[in-house]
Amino acid sequence: VDLADRLLELLGPVSPGGELVPGVRVVRASTELGLRLTFEAKGQLAHVELTPIDEAKHFAARTERFAIAFLNGVEQALGKALCDVVAAAVRRNEAAVLDALVAEAASAPTQPDPKLKIRSVTVKRILERAGPTHYTLSPYVGCLIGCRFCYAQSRVALVRRLERLPAVPWGSYVDVRVNAAEALRADLAALPPAAIKFCPIVSDPYQAVEQREGITRACLEVLAGAGPQWPALVLTRSTLIERDAELLASLPGAHAGMSIPTSDEDVARHFEPRAAAISERLRTLDRLKAAGVTTFAVVQPMLPGDVTALADALATRVSSVSLDVLHSLEGAQAEFGDPRFAHAREPQWQRERLERLADALTARGVAVWSGELPPALTAPR
Ligand code: SF4
Repeated sequence: VDLADRLLELLGPVSPGGELVPGVRVVRASTELGLRLTFEAKGQLAHVELTPIDEAKHFAARTERFAIAFLNGVEQALGKALCDVVAAAVRRNEAAVLDALVAEAASAPTQPDPKLKIRSVTVKRILERAGPTHYTLSPYVGCLIGCRFCYAQSRVALVRRLERLPAVPWGSYVDVRVNAAEALRADLAALPPAAIKFCPIVSDPYQAVEQREGITRACLEVLAGAGPQWPALVLTRSTLIERDAELLASLPGAHAGMSIPTSDEDVARHFEPRAAAISERLRTLDRLKAAGVTTFAVVQPMLPGDVTALADALATRVSSVSLDVLHSLEGAQAEFGDPRFAHAREPQWQRERLERLADALTARGVAVWSGELPPALTAPR
């Protein structure tokens, strides 16, 4: 079942490049981060997201089964008008498309074992356009590291529900995209070049299963022949990335990074108990840097711990650091509800901590950035 195709069918007989209504061109459908449709209207790119009614917090329009909202970056009136147009199309098609999806899943030749935690899946495409400067690439969907605050969990859970897969806790399953390298080779031949971000959007590219499957490595090997117009950015919480240090160092423009939200081991164990220890992550950055890889760190969300110690630990190991605050608690209510750490869920504490860390890093000569890519990778290609 290709959910991106099904998502397009919700709009009716229209393909990418075609107009949904005069002046509204369909750009793409993606199920990478939930159900997302991208349009071009009045010279702007606009993303529209579909969620089940019972999970929607805010929406601009609705159908019987979906709430429809536009994402940041589009002008309010245009976003609302677009959601109304999408809702009108979805209303006409949702019953037929969702019934077909259920029938397809039920008649698939091999039914997935509901208890199966690691599934092999194939994909038609692997690169997801994520803006003007880059694509994302997810060798896996789902993450056995299972941080409770991970933003991916609710979005991946929605897509699994549409595939009629059982509801299981985040951190207990992963889909292995076994043909990712092959799909990447085809995408490189067909798409305009841009940076490629392997990162914890719906998975960690170096979670333990990568040791056996080698999907991330196989994709990097494909990129080794692709040229400097396809720089890679890889982000992880796992030391397994050291295995690929030489390969990463050989890729022009490649960046390798570690998520290190605190320097305090006890805090890290509380919030991300299955990720590598902070001392191990720092050692991995040392080894990547020694191998000649451009290194960076991501601090997100802000977690308690000594700001100066964190800035000192990062300053000698990375050339830049991305900072961002906590956006939602996701599954981490209990972790942030602990009286020792409850202050850290407050937006003001998050903002102040970010500012202090930014100042401390800047004072040590480390470039600080926010957004999707480090400054060196944002230039148009
Ligand atoms: S390692 Fe990254 S992708 Fe995996 S659960 Fe943690 S935040 Fe999510």
